[in-house]
Amino acid sequence: MKSFASTLAGLAVGLFTLAAPLVSPALAQDKGLVGIAMPTKSSARWIDDGNNIAKYFQEKGYKTDLQYAEDDIPNQLAQIENMITKRAKVLVIASIDGTTLTDILQKAAESGVKVVAYDRLIRNSENVDYYATFDNFQVGVLQGSYIEQALGLKEGKGPFNIELFGGSPDDNNAYFFYDGAMSVLKPYIDSGKLKVASGQMGMDKVSTLRWDGAVAQARMDNLLSAYYGNKRVDAVLSPYDGLSIGIISSLKGVGYGTPSQPMPVVTGQDAEIPSMKSILAGEQRSTVFKDTRELAKVTVSMVEALMSGGTPPVNDTKTYNNGKKVVPSYLLKPVSVDASNWKQVLVDSGYYKESQIR
Ligand code: BGC
Repeated sequence: MKSFASTLAGLAVGLFTLAAPLVSPALAQDKGLVGIAMPTKSSARWIDDGNNIAKYFQEKGYKTDLQYAEDDIPNQLAQIENMITKRAKVLVIASIDGTTLTDILQKAAESGVKVVAYDRLIRNSENVDYYATFDNFQVGVLQGSYIEQALGLKEGKGPFNIELFGGSPDDNNAYFFYDGAMSVLKPYIDSGKLKVASGQMGMDKVSTLRWDGAVAQARMDNLLSAYYGNKRVDAVLSPYDGLSIGIISSLKGVGYGTPSQPMPVVTGQDAEIPSMKSILAGEQRSTVFKDTRELAKVTVSMVEALMSGGTPPVNDTKTYNNGKKVVPSYLLKPVSVDASNWKQVLVDSGYYKESQIR
């Protein structure tokens, strides 16, 4: 039999529950659930992205469900399906493979869920409302221009040997990075001032599945042993810091990185801490910083506008055709970073503390 006290307690809980929606400011501005699907925790940038987006959405009164799929496609599909089941109103997705989400996004659309593609374009689906990203072609231009300037190609120096690496072939961005870099480097390859000793050019030959640093390292090992027995590699186009770290390990393995055999110019992307340390140690030469705080803010503004019937911010309505439609996009500006400007770009902006880098 229930005691009088427990009945009273039950009554009190009941009353509190009834009253709660009227008095709790948190509940009063509950705008619903946002599902945030990120590709992997193996790269720090995605951890920053996830944390920033979740934080900004929560500040605006949304609940968030943040998931990482560890680069496993079925895992990401299951996570998104689960978000739809939990009645998320919006999905923010950085896809692993941008071509695999067609069916699940059809399901999302049938449940009235809005979708923002985050950083990576989602392909082959009409059910992508907006795309928040950086100017991906410009990322490649910055990488190519860094090599151009570091080697003195504009001043007519050369010929130099270069090898090219591309990102994951299932990531639409990888093609933009490669094309942007080649828009700068190809004329020098054509004129013979840059020589690709392996002859391996084009995304079908130089891509790196899942952006895996170990895969890049193994490919660099092969290139060095097959084509550089008696010559020096002067530059390596690397589209992402995680690949650059693998490439540099490979180069060190055959003796690069000493006064008599200096490192080639190796580029990168994301300004991740290990690469910033490598840049200060004179190994990696440059990276491209993409401020994930800004990307998260743009994404939240897009969602806020979508939810309130407003107009989401876009500054590009031509570039990103996903095979079904041109997805209205907002492109942020990437910034080239090296040993000369890292403090100003990364520390003065509050992105990193100096002590994290050195
Ligand atoms: C992102 C890059 C990142 C790469 C590997 C791309 O889609 O745009 O910033 O370096 O994925 O994670």
